[in-house]
Amino acid sequence: MLISYSVVFFSAIVWQQVNSATITSSGYAPQFSPIFPNLKTPTGVVTSYNPGPYDISATLSTEPLTGFPEPWAAPPTNSAEVLAAYNSIDWSKVPNAPVRKQNPDGSWVVKSDGATDPYCWWSSTNCRTPKASYLPPDIYTCPNKGDWGLNHDDGPFNRYTDSNAAIENPYAEPVLYNFLATHNAHSSLFYIGSNVANYPAAAKRGLNDGHHLCVHTWSHPPLTTQTNSQIVAEFYWTLKAIKAATGVTSKCFRPPQGDVDDRVRAIAWQMGMRNILWDADTNDWAMPAPGGGSLSPKVVDSYFQGWINAYNSGKDTAGHIVLQHELNSATVNMSMFWLPKIQNVFNVVPALACNGITQPYWETNFVYPITNPVNPPATYTVTATTTKAETTTSADSSAPSNANCLPGSFGYGFGDGYGGYCCKTEQDCLDNCLGGACTGPTNPVATGTPVNTIRTSTITTAKPGTTTTKKTTTTKSNTIKPTPSAGSCIAGSSGKKLGDGKIGYCCTTSDDCLDVCRGTACDV
Ligand SMILES: [Zn+2]
Repeated sequence: MLISYSVVFFSAIVWQQVNSATITSSGYAPQFSPIFPNLKTPTGVVTSYNPGPYDISATLSTEPLTGFPEPWAAPPTNSAEVLAAYNSIDWSKVPNAPVRKQNPDGSWVVKSDGATDPYCWWSSTNCRTPKASYLPPDIYTCPNKGDWGLNHDDGPFNRYTDSNAAIENPYAEPVLYNFLATHNAHSSLFYIGSNVANYPAAAKRGLNDGHHLCVHTWSHPPLTTQTNSQIVAEFYWTLKAIKAATGVTSKCFRPPQGDVDDRVRAIAWQMGMRNILWDADTNDWAMPAPGGGSLSPKVVDSYFQGWINAYNSGKDTAGHIVLQHELNSATVNMSMFWLPKIQNVFNVVPALACNGITQPYWETNFVYPITNPVNPPATYTVTATTTKAETTTSADSSAPSNANCLPGSFGYGFGDGYGGYCCKTEQDCLDNCLGGACTGPTNPVATGTPVNTIRTSTITTAKPGTTTTKKTTTTKSNTIKPTPSAGSCIAGSSGKKLGDGKIGYCCTTSDDCLDVCRGTACDV
């Protein structure tokens, strides 16, 4: 059985502005979509759900949105449009829960509201059914056993310009989205407004690729620590950034750290959004990488294996929404590593889809399926180009063989060099085979001299019900042959050079370059 919204929405289809109060059939508080003044119609985005084929070009514009608050700072609460959103809220339908405080280490100054948990504070009690009768219960799992509700927080993953760029940017979007596209997978994405404003082209790709776009605040504070005005501002600017970039207005949100109570829920609900949590957590955010911690990737691996084992042993009684991130190289790497394995066991659909949600936006011309296509296209084509910079036109081979490439190595199987696959041979697994490009040669070379290479790839178009056609594309690309460092380990390979196993570094020998070398642990 699928759960569907018990709220009946009556909203006119108005592209530019959507501001419809709702009538509810279940006693929930009315909702509205904020008004977003002075928005231009975005270009380069679909205006209804796109079933594919998808654009898997490797480069995107990095042009930011203009007219938004400073990214990653607390947005101002006194602008006219935030005040308008604030004044649209019925504050008699917002519980008077305390504005909470955290210690410098992130722990709570007061950990509990008492045994009755009057505000359904998730961080204290894992409460997911609001005490306020006019709020719907949180969505946090997939009701059907065997369903895996895919979701990623903290995106879209922006490109770095600082010293982290060399290691992080091979994983920045559209890498994960391209990987998902070529694996017939869609995700519910919880976007940080600042990331959308900095990298709207990635948000467009997210929408165009058939993912659900939801809100995850502007600057990522624990929301119960924020005043009412601050919460409104965090939501408003994120909603507006997504609207400005993609043209859609999200009806779903996830609080950073899951930190939500009925005060936060009520503000979100009245601004048009329902709370989406999870029933299992990868803790992937805590792996070593920018914004992360010190958790060994092996521990995260063990969680994934545990969920697979639990299903296979018959212990599962329902499906799962397992929290994952597109936060940094480590989380994207982990997600790409496990997705094919999860797909072998579970029915992988977006977190919203496994809950029967087909219309995640106020723009009702978007209607999403609740299942993946039964007979997906065997391969996907590049449907749009962002040429200028190097563009890779390789398409994923749908069933890469895994004959010689070690699982857990940088390339996950033989393929075409796209999205974690080796390019052509086992030796290519030494390359940084991500994002549509293999960045290294199969053998060490002496210098870092730029070399022009011609790469030829075959794209197969196979839409259901149509004749299969083939075309061959020749792409000229500039490949920097990496300079080998200590020993024979190649810069740009999985291990960047001999080192201590930190991200991108081999553990002790060049042989370790075949390892994932994630965080501080090597898999061998
Ligand atoms: Zn987050």
